[in-house]
Amino acid sequence: MSCDAVSLLRRLVATPSESGKEEAAASLLEAELKALGWAPERVGRSVYAVLGSGGPTLLLSSHLDTVPVGEGWTVPALEGLLKDGRVYGRGSNDAKGCLSAMVLGAAAAFGKGAPKGTVVLSASCEEETTNSGIAEVLPHLPKPDAAVIGEPTGLAPAVAQKGLLILEVTARGRAAHAAWGGGENAVSKAARDVLALEGITFDRSHPALGLPSLQVTQIHGGERHNVIPDRCKLVVDIRTTPAYAPEELVGLVKGRVEGTVSVRSQRLTAVDTAPSHPVVLAAVAAGGREPFGSPTVSDWAYLKGLPAVKVGPGDSRRSHTPDEYLEVSELLEGVGFYERLIRGYFELAGAA
Ligand SMILES: [Zn+2]
Repeated sequence: MSCDAVSLLRRLVATPSESGKEEAAASLLEAELKALGWAPERVGRSVYAVLGSGGPTLLLSSHLDTVPVGEGWTVPALEGLLKDGRVYGRGSNDAKGCLSAMVLGAAAAFGKGAPKGTVVLSASCEEETTNSGIAEVLPHLPKPDAAVIGEPTGLAPAVAQKGLLILEVTARGRAAHAAWGGGENAVSKAARDVLALEGITFDRSHPALGLPSLQVTQIHGGERHNVIPDRCKLVVDIRTTPAYAPEELVGLVKGRVEGTVSVRSQRLTAVDTAPSHPVVLAAVAAGGREPFGSPTVSDWAYLKGLPAVKVGPGDSRRSHTPDEYLEVSELLEGVGFYERLIRGYFELAGAA
């Protein structure tokens, strides 16, 4: 084999790829895949490759981009430093480790006699920002039957993922001089809306994700100390589950507040996969870890209902932090894990 997972990960980390600037990392991956004998294709700053033919088609999807380096590092962030059994650097854990393990895992699965199925490997750009990469790549791919999203989960398969609904509530009043009174105070109205929103309770629990959550995360009202404000805006962050339709949640908020409600974003929908689906069974068998529900969002939200699991080496709590790292042992375990998952899925889905 022309490359190993540790050296691939180190080279990917040493090729900075902040969202929107994935060009060099995409070219590196393309060259690596060619060296493995694959025929990679580019779609903008995303890369994909198809391995094998016929049988069930499994999409392995991870991302090339990272969040910015940020402050607080005590080790080099963009060198692919290998130290004390760890590969350090921005993107090592999220998600270049998963991507490297997927590449080498797929190579291993196809290295020992061709299994009966097709793997589509996709490394998307802009997962951390707009999720436009996966949306651009999808129409180019052979139609997958199931997907594996490469994100650090300690190799436990996430079988459901919360969605994100962002609402704005605008309270309107009437401006007046604070000394004279009168008018209508929009900040006071918004304050009552905040308390009303705290009173919302959810009763429909999702088996893997539990209840949705709702938080008022921003408030802005008033321009001057001596003017009764005529407008105050709240931002509401709702982490959704498949147990509630987004419209239903919007309705719930509308029913509680006095202000006007508008939807800022609902593009990240909540998703789940039946526990009995072959891709879930194969992921559980490959890693021996229990399935769980994930509160964090990913490209999974864009797969248009395709059955999927989100699983990969590493720990999501290390993502986006200074001194981000992936243990070499985690990476290598990930390679074997994806190899077993691919073979297991082809067996289960091919027999079905
Ligand atoms: Zn990620």
